[in-house]
Amino acid sequence: MLQTMSDVAQRIAENLHAVRERIAVAAARAGRDPSGIRLIGVTKYAGPELAGMLVQAGLVDLGESRPQELWRKAEALTAQSVRWHLIGHLQRNKVRRTLPLTTLIHSGDSLRLFESLSEESAALARKCDVLLEVNISGDQAKHGFAPQELAPLLPAIAALPHVQVRGLMGMAGLETDADEARRQFASLRLLRDRLLADCPPAISLAELSMGMSGDFEQAIAEGATMVRVGSALFEGVTT
Ligand SMILES: *Cc1c(COP(=O)(O)O)cnc(C)c1O
Repeated sequence: MLQTMSDVAQRIAENLHAVRERIAVAAARAGRDPSGIRLIGVTKYAGPELAGMLVQAGLVDLGESRPQELWRKAEALTAQSVRWHLIGHLQRNKVRRTLPLTTLIHSGDSLRLFESLSEESAALARKCDVLLEVNISGDQAKHGFAPQELAPLLPAIAALPHVQVRGLMGMAGLETDADEARRQFASLRLLRDRLLADCPPAISLAELSMGMSGDFEQAIAEGATMVRVGSALFEGVTT
């Protein structure tokens, strides 16, 4: 059956409500306050129009994994107040254009990228909020620091004057079941706790960005402060 745009908008609003409910239930089960968990709506499967419907339905944090897509949608949605999150790999030649559009870069995955972010932020006379992406699944195809490589790098990252580290980001491996995803999220939390023991004061590790449509409940159980949810928000939308 064909959906009109207003059917689509309604379905997206219902999906958003359902995801927020699931977050609230998972938080309650973990004895956590749901206001400590920020929902980031991942719009990579949707065009600017559908992304705008999420904003209309009340979501202010949107995420894109590809910089060019973030630019395109940020441009299309300038009239709306969106906080954009970059959640995928950022090449250094795309830093300059991406920085002014984003609230938080989740995918800080190399020292060279951090250096470039600091330089470009200096030119804009601002500080850039970034998460350290950690490859928690060990999947070779995934970006991110290896867990053991992070501690020795923290002093160099802390010394960059225009970068503010806010926490860690991780993704469960493909084809992991719920139990294995939860173990991987727990490993990110434990890594954070270990790093905190000897962390330069300029670095904050308060944020844990982990969990997607299929596993955000497990991530919340392990302390996620940000969940990045895409497909669950666009379920049943056929245009
Ligand atoms: C696509 C993507 C998501 C959202 O995935 P869904 O399974 O659609 O919720 C979250 N994080 C990253 C890094 C992604 O690339």
